[in-house]
Amino acid sequence: MTKQKISTRISESKKEKPASEQLEFGRVFTDHMFVMDYKESKGWHDPRIVPYQPITLDPASIVFHYGQTVFEGLKAYETKQGEVQLFRPEKNMQRLNRSNDRMCIPRIDEAFALEAINQLVHLDREWVPNAPGTSLYIRPFIISTEPYLGVAPSKQYQFIVILSPVGAYYKEGINPIRIAVENEFVRAVKGGTGEAKTAGNYASSLKAQEIVSEQGFAQVLWLDGLEKKYIEEVGSMNVFFKISGEVVTPALNGSILEGVTRNSVIQLLNHWDVPVTERKISMDEVYQAYKDGLLEEAFGAGTAAVISPIGELSWNGESLVINESQTGDISKKLYDTLTGIQYGSVSDPFGWTVKVNE
Ligand SMILES: *Cc1c(COP(=O)(O)O)cnc(C)c1O
Repeated sequence: MTKQKISTRISESKKEKPASEQLEFGRVFTDHMFVMDYKESKGWHDPRIVPYQPITLDPASIVFHYGQTVFEGLKAYETKQGEVQLFRPEKNMQRLNRSNDRMCIPRIDEAFALEAINQLVHLDREWVPNAPGTSLYIRPFIISTEPYLGVAPSKQYQFIVILSPVGAYYKEGINPIRIAVENEFVRAVKGGTGEAKTAGNYASSLKAQEIVSEQGFAQVLWLDGLEKKYIEEVGSMNVFFKISGEVVTPALNGSILEGVTRNSVIQLLNHWDVPVTERKISMDEVYQAYKDGLLEEAFGAGTAAVISPIGELSWNGESLVINESQTGDISKKLYDTLTGIQYGSVSDPFGWTVKVNE
């Protein structure tokens, strides 16, 4: 793929920016967006930054009917020095291409997509909020735009990047959440699309989420789709358990989404000489560890919340209260270190952050 110049059309009017303290997640968007088209004869072409605006699509576009689409999610953070930086963005572009492969969508040039994100964030850099815990969420996604009702890979696509200033996930520090173990619905099965960040996985997760939120739980703990025995993920986060001093996370198995945060947690634990293992872990094992008083901490890990301690697991009518529903030491240290690196207040020994510049 040849490197192409990104054309830029600046918005004539600027939208009003919400106060940092009032920001939610994903409701407000910036002044510009990036768009690039694909068709078979030209490949990816016409990369452009344009004013943020609705897109017009043929109602027969494949994406509306068969959901051939992928997305990513990462953040830009403002440092104390007023610089803007990204956290391991190359990992998101690599994963976007893995999702593309699974969904029969043509690959993008990862370096070029990063350059597009860099230019877009730089242009809308005034939108990067600076109240503690706030950031600019970056949502790259690809949709299949060919008007065709046959079930086949589209011959046309759009790659779009939009930006949204988002509030602090935890307004008063990190807070343990209540989780229900999901025994009926499954998120993904091996051989399915669980490894890809594709819309259908999230549409199919809504029902379970809806039922447990009525019962006061924040998320569900997903079990494997075949035996409903082994733990996979929590909501749309990867999950970790600390049992007798060892941190365990489900091994990647074809149905688990490989998180950038998950990978960073494993690297940090290794760096601190905290034992960490990727392996199969069953709900029975977690329950037994709990009964034996060995379940020390549990937490979810993902870009949105970074680290989300689990204070309670509800399973088969029993309630497992973990670490007295308090944030555990490892959860806290991981949260402080990861956010510290992301906001540039803690040194970055792994070279994870990338500055946004002209
Ligand atoms: C995005 C996502 C994650 C977390 O990935 P990060 O790269 O850490 O944000 C975990 N599980 C699911 C299902 C996801 O969609």
